Amino acid sequence: MRNKTAKKPAPTQEANVIYQHNCTAEDCGPHSYIGMTRTTLSRRLTCHLQNGSIKEHYHEKHQTKLTRQQLEENATIIDRETDARRLMFLEDIYIESLKPAINQQTRDLQILPTRKLRA
Ligand SMILES: [Zn+2]
Repeated sequence: MRNKTAKKPAPTQEANVIYQHNCTAEDCGPHSYIGMTRTTLSRRLTCHLQNGSIKEHYHEKHQTKLTRQQLEENATIIDRETDARRLMFLEDIYIESLKPAINQQTRDLQILPTRKLRA
């Protein structure tokens, strides 16, 4: 066995990154979510497993339970920035320019908090 990959940490062990999650459900459009994390991506994914818009997306659109494997396999690191303020700024830029559908879904709920109660 060669040691080629040993130097590179697994993507989930990286911190201070912008990441993208792509929904891979067959009947789903190009639904993605962009977020940032200052802790390791692995810890951030644990949060996504517990609550939030990715979990809601799988539950509401696909009636399936989001698994850790799905989160890990479909997460891509799209940028890295160690400065906290710039990291937040970068996240905004990516969300504004790519308009990922799963992010938009949460923003709607934030604008109309009563929608949750009526649903
Ligand atoms: Zn989907």
